Amino acid sequence: MSRLIASFIAGPTNVPEKVLAAYNVNYGSADLDKDYLALYLSTEKKLQTILGTSNQVFMQTGEGMLGLWGALKSCLKPGDRVVSVCSGVFGYGIAEMAKTIGAEVRCFELPYHETVGNCSELEKIIAEFKPLMITMVHCETPSGTLNPLGEVARIKKSHGVPLFCVDTVASAGGMPVEADKFLIDLCLNGSQKCLSAPPDMTFVAVSDKAWEIIDRVNYQGYDAFKPFKNATTDFYFPNTMYWQGLAGLSAAAGLILEEGLEQVYDRHIQAQSYCLSRIKQMGLECFAGPTAIKSPSVTAVNLPAGISWPELDRRCRERGLAVAGSYGPLAGKVFRIGHMGTQADLKLLETGLNILESVL
Ligand code: PLP
Repeated sequence: MSRLIASFIAGPTNVPEKVLAAYNVNYGSADLDKDYLALYLSTEKKLQTILGTSNQVFMQTGEGMLGLWGALKSCLKPGDRVVSVCSGVFGYGIAEMAKTIGAEVRCFELPYHETVGNCSELEKIIAEFKPLMITMVHCETPSGTLNPLGEVARIKKSHGVPLFCVDTVASAGGMPVEADKFLIDLCLNGSQKCLSAPPDMTFVAVSDKAWEIIDRVNYQGYDAFKPFKNATTDFYFPNTMYWQGLAGLSAAAGLILEEGLEQVYDRHIQAQSYCLSRIKQMGLECFAGPTAIKSPSVTAVNLPAGISWPELDRRCRERGLAVAGSYGPLAGKVFRIGHMGTQADLKLLETGLNILESVL
């Protein structure tokens, strides 16, 4: 592959030097050395701040999908009821995953270019179906959309739904998640999007209610959450922990907090505005519909007439630019410009969007 001048793949993102440096160390044994425990606990604090939660946050080797599967398998037994908010590839995907576990799933379906707005139908489904869990995706990365959490959190509370499980993989660290304010019981994340660490760590904020259910379900697989409940108090992790990965995640979270959450969020908004205005100038059209909320971490653009996705990709890469295609029903129809984490940089975006303009 030729050297890239600018990469706007919607994760993984370029990893800053300080994060890379954290990998370049021979650490001791995470099973035996108390320094690992200290790093684990201090990283947990940083991630709690980023997620806006006082719930326990545990970290495990593996990327975002590990947390998604682990949450569903750890909380659901066959026959349990789930209502899934489906507005994109990951929302529909999580509903399918819950079905494979044997859960009875009802979907609140929205077109891929829309975001959660009027929730009266969702409320009706929840009132009738009385689910154990509501699932939802905050940022639908393949569509560049952002589902607001407030109204669904209100419905969870007023109908006494035990678990609200939210995929914040492509939002946390780039915009407010506020897991406690929005009553999120399982807040699922990966290291490779707005945190700009390599794709090797998953981290999940788990509420007391979720731990209670996890304990009862007693799922024992490799992706099980249960062993992490007392892992730090007992200093006993279920497998050999990845010290370099944790150190990288800690450094990445540290960079966000050093910059300041408000500044980081503002940088993402500025990157998004710049991207949207350049797209408009180029005569391109956003995939997200006029009433949808667009995500500050990624913009999905309708592929213009007269060029296929493989051709656009080839021409961009020839000039040193990588943008992303999309998935599922959006494959070949939409391309995406990530502006998450280290990509939320106006100079870098200017370079990349100049290349895109010349290609088009
Ligand atoms: N959830 C969302 C919204 C994503 O965009 C992704 C990855 O693109 C994932 C989950 C899965 O994360 P990973 O690819 O790190 O396993």
